[in-house]
Amino acid sequence: MPVNSLLKKVLGIALVVVKSARFEGGSLIISVRPRKSRLCRCHECGRKCPVYDCPPEPRRWRSLDLGGAMVFLEYALPRVECPEHGVHAAGVPWAHHASRFTCDFEDQVAWLCVHCSRSTVAQLMRIDWKSVGGICKRVYDRLDAEAGNRFDGLVRIGVDETSYKKGRKYMTVVVDHDTGRVVWCAKGHGKAVLDSFFSLLTDEQRASVRVVTADGARWIADVVAARCPNAERVMDPFHVVQWMTDLLDDLRKDAWREAVKAERAAAKDAPKRGRGRPRKGEEKPESAAKAVKGSRYALLKNPEDLTAGQRASLEKVARENKALYRAYLLKEDLRDVYKSPDLETARARLEKWLASACRSRNEKVRELSKKVRRHKGAILRSVELGISNARIEAINNKIKLTVRMGYGFRNIDNLIALVMLRCSNLPISLPGRC
Ligand SMILES: [Zn+2]
Repeated sequence: MPVNSLLKKVLGIALVVVKSARFEGGSLIISVRPRKSRLCRCHECGRKCPVYDCPPEPRRWRSLDLGGAMVFLEYALPRVECPEHGVHAAGVPWAHHASRFTCDFEDQVAWLCVHCSRSTVAQLMRIDWKSVGGICKRVYDRLDAEAGNRFDGLVRIGVDETSYKKGRKYMTVVVDHDTGRVVWCAKGHGKAVLDSFFSLLTDEQRASVRVVTADGARWIADVVAARCPNAERVMDPFHVVQWMTDLLDDLRKDAWREAVKAERAAAKDAPKRGRGRPRKGEEKPESAAKAVKGSRYALLKNPEDLTAGQRASLEKVARENKALYRAYLLKEDLRDVYKSPDLETARARLEKWLASACRSRNEKVRELSKKVRRHKGAILRSVELGISNARIEAINNKIKLTVRMGYGFRNIDNLIALVMLRCSNLPISLPGRC
């Protein structure tokens, strides 16, 4: 088989003619051109157009590596003059018109983004993490166009706001509770943003939505009532548990501040010790403030996910900081409400929780108990409808993890594309596999 035909087979790109290949600084440069039938096409409409001009230097596209060598496709890309779309670079069958990577390369990067960490993707594919954002956007746009309408058959959906850029900016995410995938994601939050989601749905699609879960925000209720009259608005279990989790973290910070204050006061009164390392047998006293500070994940994580160290840290809190441990038990009891096998058990558990929370010595806990009591009906309704907290928690954590992974993307649309690729189960095909 001639080398050029062999290379064409290895590249796996249709409608391409391989002209020559050479090595340049450890990289394999393959000179190609589209087949005659694909030459000088407008990338917008695909129409054959007259050539406007030819560049002095050929353009290069990064392709998948061959063994250890980086591979680049090279082609002197002409500009064409389309009667409808004006003068612009011609389209090529191996890459998106705005990309310097081949489609196969982009598919592989997108697949890796879904399954691996960002450092693995950047190291394995030998690209800068910042270029991954644009790749995700292009692959997502293509897959989304092929996937058809993802808003068909929505019955139970959840609306949530997720922060990014260290909590300074927000995006609105809509989740399908029945499939556990993200169906829509957009920049910003508020009435107008949620309204734009419902505008994308047809009348039948809006009519099929029966349940919308969200946090207690009134604006969500207003939009849902106006756009989805058939839907019932229910309290999102995840947010109820989060109220308690946030409060627990506040209490932990308070406990830490108090411990630091006490330690400083004790250090003032204690006799001064000389310079240098402590003598043999002279142990440094264990810092209570440090122990409280280190207990953050032990307190906030679900008990079934704790590591051995975190379990020890939790036992220490139970021994030494009774008030904080009581708040921890309240958090777990609130989670148990959502694990109830039936409505009656849930009602009994919630009543028990409210009774112990409203008797708490801490004012913040008493305030939260009032808030939960206000939403009691909506909380029990979500249990009755069988909306699983575990599933919502899992998808929320996945979104948060993805947002953290996309740190460094300058463009918010690229971050949204990454969230959609990772959380909406779009099928990304790997090159050379059907
Ligand atoms: Zn055109």
